[in-house]
Amino acid sequence: MSIEGKVALVTGATRGIGKAIAENLASQGAVVIGTATSEGGAAAISEYLASAGNSGKGLVLNVADAESIDSVVKAIQAEFGAIEILVNNAGITRDNLMMRMKDDEWDSVIDTNLTSVYRLAKGCLRGMTKARWGRIVSVSSVVASMGNAGQANYAAAKSGMEGFTRALARELGSRNVTVNCVAPGFIDTDMTSGLPEEHKANLQAQIPMNRLGKPEEIASVVGFLCSEGGAYITGETIQVNGGMYMA
Ligand code: NAD
Repeated sequence: MSIEGKVALVTGATRGIGKAIAENLASQGAVVIGTATSEGGAAAISEYLASAGNSGKGLVLNVADAESIDSVVKAIQAEFGAIEILVNNAGITRDNLMMRMKDDEWDSVIDTNLTSVYRLAKGCLRGMTKARWGRIVSVSSVVASMGNAGQANYAAAKSGMEGFTRALARELGSRNVTVNCVAPGFIDTDMTSGLPEEHKANLQAQIPMNRLGKPEEIASVVGFLCSEGGAYITGETIQVNGGMYMA
């Protein structure tokens, strides 16, 4: 069995890790629906999927908004059928030291990075359990395990995502639905490109492989978990970080 023809939803697929994941799943033959936060972004996703010969498309989704999730999930199910692969990739950082952290910095990171995972999984569950086949993969972070000063909101959200994953894996194992996380280290994307050079150099010095990861190096692990090769892995968080953190 392969994932040929399976409907896959990848959030935050305009760029970076999400785009690489969408391209990986498309290369395995899944029908990929990638989401963006703007019409222009959705059109760009439709374009790269079409040029890869994929019959999926881009859609606008705000993962921090329950109504947006509800309407997008329903629209995909109506047009393509059950979503059998869900990749929760969309995420943000709003860094601040705890003394200075504002409620909206806390709330937006929890809503975008954690509550969205609960809402999207809930929206896709019925289709997966009915099909007795499903994959939920969420993109966590090494920060969930290591912590990072100034990122208490982000660490809480990503650790919550990992705990949620273990609980849901236990609920859904008997239905042949696997639930996992992939936790990247320091990856070369828009999320990290704006960091001060000195901070980047310090981070890189903590990586035994002495380089940043590439989005494709995260996507290949997500793609494996979605494939039949990963069929017996559930409840796990796979660390992909060049040795930065060893569990
Ligand atoms: P990125 O900023 O390039 O991509 C983030 C994506 O999320 C974008 O496509 C963006 O449009 C989308 N997004 C943001 N808010 C959204 C919302 N409210 N609704 C829908 N989509 C939204 O960064 P990236 O590095 O590609 O990040 C992808 C994932 O990887 C994130 O979950 C991030 O936390 C995680 N991660 C990244 C790194 C890294 O070093 N880059 C490390 C660990 C984890």
